[in-house]
Amino acid sequence: MTAQLELRQVSKVYGSGPTEVRALDRADLIVEGGELVAVMGPSGSGKSTLLTIAGSLEEASSGEVLVAGTEVSGMSGNDRARMRRRAIGYVFQDFNLLVGLTAVENVALPLELDGVRAGTARKTAMRALDELGLSARAGRYPDELSGGERQRVAIARAVVGDRQLLLADEPTGALDSVNGEAVMRLLRATCREGIAGVMVTHDAQLASWADRVVFLRDGHIVDQTAPPAGPESLLVTETGR
Ligand code: ADP
Ligand code: MG
Repeated sequence: MTAQLELRQVSKVYGSGPTEVRALDRADLIVEGGELVAVMGPSGSGKSTLLTIAGSLEEASSGEVLVAGTEVSGMSGNDRARMRRRAIGYVFQDFNLLVGLTAVENVALPLELDGVRAGTARKTAMRALDELGLSARAGRYPDELSGGERQRVAIARAVVGDRQLLLADEPTGALDSVNGEAVMRLLRATCREGIAGVMVTHDAQLASWADRVVFLRDGHIVDQTAPPAGPESLLVTETGR
């Protein structure tokens, strides 16, 4: 397994002087392909900052960020933008689907923006929706879908194409427990296919789906542990694997 994401002593400082905030303080994190890592911590502890830096949406103030073995700060702006489009998928709490596009159009959009022909992008998007059990919903607009379905479309959009890193910031925050659990199952299965996943959550039950939990406090990683036995371990026992 190769490390798809590696943070080495990464710090992020917002502002300067009396308003300075050290949102992230010398954070080290390695996530392998196939691994799902949950990030937990109080509000303001730096969870979203960690994700935006991992996804190169923001630059670190110091330290090194490597995606699929390549140091992000050494890339040209163009290469970094291409990596963001092709290698990294994001899922947000509020889904961020475009309301004027159907489910399949939403999923196809990042491919089309990346220069894939419309017909091919649509086929790829349909396949991704199919894998998430959403074929029958492909032609619907976001406001014709349930919250759980919308989030599954957002996940399809985040993993479509050849992504290596999936970053999810409280992806189940707007969902009830049944839909939240379905989304977790999906994230878990997606990462099993070799994608590295990092997910922020407040919910210890949902975090127990991850391989590992990273705890943040005041920008510090204070602990990294295997989660307590949760639903995932029950599944493993049931299937005898
Ligand atoms: P969390 O996601 O754990 O709630 P964040 O990563 O959003 O925490 O924020 C960590 C700290 O950095 C907080 O004190 C927050 O106010 C600050 N912060 C986050 N983004 C910015 C920004 N763009 N400008 C200034 N301060 C910020
Ligand atoms: Mg946050």
